[in-house]
Formats: sequence, structure tokens, C-alpha cells
Amino acid sequence: MQIQDRPITDWLPITKKEVERRGWEELDVILISGDAYVDHPAFGPAVIGRIIENEGYKIAIIPQPNWKDDLRDFKKMGKPKLFFGVTAGCMDSMVNHYTANKRRRSNDSYTPGGEAGFRPDYATIEYTKILKELYPDVPVLLGGIEASLRRVTHYDYWSDRLMPSILESSGADMLVYGMGEQPLREVLKLLSKGVPFNSLTTIPQTAFIRKQEEELPKNKNWETIEINSHEKCLDDKLAYASNFKHIEQESNKLHANRIIQKIGENNLIINPPFYTMTEEEMDQSFDFPYTRLPHPKYKKRGAIPAYDMIKFSVNMHRGCFGGCSFCTISAHQGKFIASRSEKSIMKEVNHVTAMPDFKGYISDLGGPSANMYKMKGIDESICEKCVSPSCIHPVVCHNLDTSHQPLIDIYRKVDEHPDIKKAFVGSGIRYDLLVKDYNKRADDTIDEYMEQVLRRHVSGRLKVAPEHTSDATLKIMRKPSFKHFHAFKKKYDEIDKKYNLNQQLIPYFISSHPGCEAQDMAHLAAETKEMGFKLEQVQDFTPTPMTVATVIYYSGVHPYTLKPYYTAKSKEEKLEQHQFFFWYKSEYQSKIRKRLEKLGLNDLTIKLLSRAPQKKEDFKPAHAKYGSNKNAKPQQEQKEGKRNGKSRNDKKKRNFDNDKPFNPKSKNFRSGGGHPNSNNKNRKNKQKSYK
Ligand code: SF4
Repeated sequence: MQIQDRPITDWLPITKKEVERRGWEELDVILISGDAYVDHPAFGPAVIGRIIENEGYKIAIIPQPNWKDDLRDFKKMGKPKLFFGVTAGCMDSMVNHYTANKRRRSNDSYTPGGEAGFRPDYATIEYTKILKELYPDVPVLLGGIEASLRRVTHYDYWSDRLMPSILESSGADMLVYGMGEQPLREVLKLLSKGVPFNSLTTIPQTAFIRKQEEELPKNKNWETIEINSHEKCLDDKLAYASNFKHIEQESNKLHANRIIQKIGENNLIINPPFYTMTEEEMDQSFDFPYTRLPHPKYKKRGAIPAYDMIKFSVNMHRGCFGGCSFCTISAHQGKFIASRSEKSIMKEVNHVTAMPDFKGYISDLGGPSANMYKMKGIDESICEKCVSPSCIHPVVCHNLDTSHQPLIDIYRKVDEHPDIKKAFVGSGIRYDLLVKDYNKRADDTIDEYMEQVLRRHVSGRLKVAPEHTSDATLKIMRKPSFKHFHAFKKKYDEIDKKYNLNQQLIPYFISSHPGCEAQDMAHLAAETKEMGFKLEQVQDFTPTPMTVATVIYYSGVHPYTLKPYYTAKSKEEKLEQHQFFFWYKSEYQSKIRKRLEKLGLNDLTIKLLSRAPQKKEDFKPAHAKYGSNKNAKPQQEQKEGKRNGKSRNDKKKRNFDNDKPFNPKSKNFRSGGGHPNSNNKNRKNKQKSYK
């Protein structure tokens, strides 16, 4: 059905008129969101709104309210009976607004027309403060990735300081972390029984603040652990770092402990998470009566880029057991995979094919990592006691069932759909699961999967993320040795040749990750050149809240071992690392030459900058280099002990942000990307009221 043919009541109301049209005089819940309202299961506010509606409550959304005028957007619906829900949107507002180099982006994928300036910085805090000013007696419940990952003392890269729990900074009453469905249903259930909001203290996956003199809420199933106080973290970086191990472990356990942290005279109380969502619960979240369209109010304001990117895609599962140290997916969605049923996935595929502008191409049959669908522990009683942040690092767990059969079955079913010409897998594929030397207990389905993907589901380029070539840096990233990427490429090339596919393999890499030094980047450039790559999908590390890498960036130590690690921090150091990706650009070559000279890596100058093809035997990959020479110091040994490397001599400041607009499906979603033409001066004028 076309957008204009649908009654407005097919969407959740976002204006007073739409509320009145439903005959509602009062609302139970009002959601304030930093994103435009897209009624699609990929957009958190839509899912949350549909759950509340499904539970029989009257709900309205106020998307992207103007926070700079007389606050009419916040007042237009009056006050709700139960609570205000507040979210910054699908991304942390600071990751959305700024590049890795802290330059303001000129675009916003979650706003019509891709326009920037419709959401405040630190949106969750800003919105909550306004609500508490206007309606001090109405509870505010926070959710979404910004609140979730800022639930405890965290490093904020953009203000370069530690911030307390967002509950403290905002003044909100409660916070739901992770995916919100289960805690939200529990909140609604208890409120409907007449439990006052401030008595909701034993709901899993929620956090709140209470006076220290108050007794801790009772729950006989939970043990409580206390982490270093916010004040101690401010005084001592090691205290902050050591907190993280507990926070990460408790977030990823099946039977976790409750965490408390002192903030001034209060206790921050973080209840343990819910169990992983069942297939039935997952299906329900995706099967609500979404229109799968942006609200018609945005019609004249242009397309919403994030929606355009996913409108023909289908998400099959949530969670990721990779545990990469720079990534927030498992911190937010959890380590255990929650999968949808095949029936629910095929139902959504049918919806997509029925869309009027569908041309026969599904853009993504995926998930946070494409090939984790239905994967879980063989013996789940072992998982129940597990504290590992990753199921596949440093080795693939012997208890992990990595059969790709359920995934192959769905790919084939979708492939056979009469209205589908091609269904692509656009989400990142964990290549390491497909390499027998690394995934030692893998069955034959990994080969079958790889053939199926390369022959039927690649749009000409397959993107995978080795992230680095230096094994020492990869270890800190919680990624496998680069030798496994070589093995994957070999297998990829064989299939490509066998079926005459002529498709490109595109690897992703990160510069300036904690533990990575300039010489690692020089070796990365040389090794990838030798493999025939001219890199383009690259990014500079951004320390986003609640990752291992961010803890190392700020504290200088690894949170699990408290061992010191070097991180490139100054613009010059970061630029120096980043430019190695682009050895083939003439404007960087003389700088790279000088740097290689300074690093004593003259042998790489010929390999990297000479036009003549190099003989293979001249080249030694970085991992082989240290592995074969018993007297050579492992790179990590050289790095440990260096906490703050000096700035390089290259004083000229240049913007090295990515020059592409922000892409919510790219790796930038996790760590930030950029646009060099960011401009803040018109921001105020751009902010409009939608009333
Ligand atoms: S036991 Fe293995 S499969 Fe289970 S959670 Fe731990 S690492 Fe993952």
C-alpha cells in the first residue's frame, strides 16, 4: 500500500491532532525521541511504541522536539499518566553528531533530508532536564543505546572526561539498558497493578539511584557486587579501568550479579539483565503491525537516509558473541544470540516484496554479525557458568555450535522466492568462523555457506573486517591473527575462480586503536598492498562509551590485566597512522617516505612506494616477522610500558576524517566516521518546530 493510501491511524500518533483523532483525551506514555519516527522494527522508538500499544496503553511519540524555543513541542501533548520515555535515538547523540576527529557532521541519517541540527548534544540529558523542569512529578524512564552505554561511570571522548551514570547527569528516575522489550513489559505490568513508579526496584535490566542510607531492594536470586565509586574513578584511572571487567562480565552472564556504585551520597543500582529473548519473544517484536514507513508528516522534507538504507532489508537475529574490544554491540544487545523463527523472517520477506517500490532486491538478510543466526552453546549448562566476554576469542569455544545450516536454509528459501531476483547479505560476515584452522570444530556447512554467499548473495563486493594485520594489535582488539585472513582470502579466491564470479573482497581496517603504533600501520600498508588491496573502507578509532578499547584509551591500561598500553591520541599521531592506509595517493607519499625513514623502516619504502611490482619472497608479513625470529621482540612487548607516545614532528593540522556521509550500516555505526565539511554555524537556524 502506498503511504498516501494508508489512514494516519496506522502510525502511532506524533501530533495532538492525531491523538484526538483516536478519541484519546489523555495519554499513558509519551516517548521523546532524538530520531524522526520511522514505523519499522529496525527503529527502537517504533518497537517500544508498538509494545506499549500492544499492552493496551495510549502512547504518542514526540520525535526530534525543538529544545531551543518556548518548548512547545514538549508541552503539546500535556503530561502522561504513567511516565515519559526518553531516548536519544538509534545512536549515541555524540557519535551521531561528531566525527572521529571531533568535527561536527553536516548530515544526520536519522532526520528527513539527512539534515543535521535536529537533536541536541547529549540528547538524553537535555530532554530529561526539560521534562523535569516542566513536569517535575512525572517519572522519566530512559532507554536506547545512549542511556544504556552511559549507565555507569564512563569516559566521554567529546568532553574528554569521566562522566557519572546518565541517571545522575539527567535526573531521570529509571534506566532500561540493552534491548528494552522485556524490562518495559515488566514495568507496564507492575504499574498496571498499581505499584508506584519509585517502587519498581527489582526489575531485571534496569538501573536507578537511591540514597545510601536506604536498604538495598530485596531479591533472593541476586548477589550484589560493589564497584569503585564514581569519585574514586575520578581520582584514580586504574580504579575506573578495573571497574570495566566487572561491568562487562555481569552484562554478559546468564546468571549475573547486581552491581552497585556509590555516587556522592547515593548508590547507583544496576540490576542483572533478563534472560536472552526467546524465539517467540523475538518474533513478537518483529510481527507488530508496523507500516514499515516513515510518518507521512515527513513527506515534503526529503528521504530519511537510515530508512532508505534498510527498507528492503530483514534482520534475522540480535546479539553478537564476537566481543571485539572496540565494539558496543554485545554491551548493548548481549553476547547470547536471540534469533527469530524462519516463519517470522519469511513473513517479513513477504511484506518487503509487497512494497510498491520493491524491485526484486533484498538489500540485507542479516544481523549484527551476519553469520551468527541460531548459534549457541551445545551444552548450555556450561554457558550458564561462563564469564568469557567472547565465544570466539582467543579461540573458538569448543562448546559453541557454529553450524551455518539454519542460515543456509533461510538464504535458499529467500532465494527461491518468486518475487526476489537477489537477496544480498549486506551485514558484516565473521570470516574467522569460516576458516577451519581457526574454527577447529567447524562442520562442512562453513564451506557450503561460503559458496552459497559468494554465488548468490554478494552484490559484487564482499566486505569483511580483519581490522588490522598486526597480531599484537589484533589481540587487544580481540580479533584473530591476520594469518587467518590470508587463509580466508585463499578460499575466497578459489571459489571466485571456480565459478568465474569476478567479485571483489573488501577488507575493513582501523587505525589508532589502542596498542597500534605507527610501525604497525606501516606494516599493515605493506602487507595489504602485497595482497593486492588498495584500501578504502577504513576508519580512525573513536572511543565510544563502554568498550574495552575506550577504557584503554582513557586509562592507559587494559581493564582485565591493568597492563599499560600505548594509544595514539594527538591529531598528529592519528593522522600519521591514518595516512598509511592511503600509500597510493600521491599527496601522502613524501610524508610516508619521511615517516618510514624516521621509523627505521627503509625496507618498507621500496615495498610501499615503488611502482615496480615486488617479488613475493622480498616480503615478509608482520605476523611471520616476529614469529620466525627468536631474537626479535614481539611487538606487544615493545609496546607495553609506553603509555603516552610523543607527538610527531608533523605539525601541519589536516582533517583526516572519512570524506563520506555518515552511514549507519557501516563500521562507523560502532566507532564513528566523518564528513570534512561539517559546519555548525547554521545549526540554530536549522532547528525547527514540527508543530
Ligand atoms: S561456554 Fe562457550 S559457547 Fe557458552 S557462552 Fe561461554 S564461550 Fe560462549
